[in-house]
Amino acid sequence: MRYAIISDIHGNLQAAEAVLGLIERLDIGQIVCLGDIVGYGGDPSGCVDLIRRFCPRVIIGNHDAGAVGLTSVDYFNPAAREAVLWTDTVLSDEERNYLRNLPYEMDFEDFQIVHSTPDDPAQWKYLLVEEEAGPLFDFFNGRLLFFGHTHVPVVFRRDAEGTVHATGADDFILEKQVRYIVNVGSVGQPRDGDPRATFAVYESESEKVTFYREPYDIAAAQKRILQNDLPQMLAIRLAFGR
Ligand code: ZN
Repeated sequence: MRYAIISDIHGNLQAAEAVLGLIERLDIGQIVCLGDIVGYGGDPSGCVDLIRRFCPRVIIGNHDAGAVGLTSVDYFNPAAREAVLWTDTVLSDEERNYLRNLPYEMDFEDFQIVHSTPDDPAQWKYLLVEEEAGPLFDFFNGRLLFFGHTHVPVVFRRDAEGTVHATGADDFILEKQVRYIVNVGSVGQPRDGDPRATFAVYESESEKVTFYREPYDIAAAQKRILQNDLPQMLAIRLAFGR
């Protein structure tokens, strides 16, 4: 079985359509979404609609939760808060209901998923460096956990001796005795300096994780942000992948 694992779409319909188009061309039937469908971008309803149609297995992100009043947005930075409060005003009741009922984590036969961290997914903690990753291996059972939230693709590996290394977003095959926490990057607002949309594919027979980068119409996504009077920096950053 091949799974496309996508995360952090953030209301960027152009990026979402480009990624789903590539997934279709790759003929991958199973699409899994790690949350943050909305927030930041100018097309929250369009993205909710797209994910509902093509992606039956979805978990909630902090921006989804913030947009429907499930989590406080007080700690969001001002631009993020402005965008999420605007998102709240444009979603339909039905779309809000859909987001509100998404689970915080999900188990698959070969892997597990969470938006932020597996110790307490509703706390929305950020996992960026290997020192933070070590203790988190105690909070899931399998060999492989996928997460999003930071918008930076990375692989944390824990070997049989318990040593944790961050190894960058390079394709890899699971090794025996090694466990992995993998960030698949962001579809709609990459932050690792590469503006192309990011996602990963897991192939369960070969136990291989492959990272993809896909170009999309950044100018059109920027236009949608500005047309809706959202903070200008949310449009500018898309061009830089920061
Ligand atoms: Zn996010």
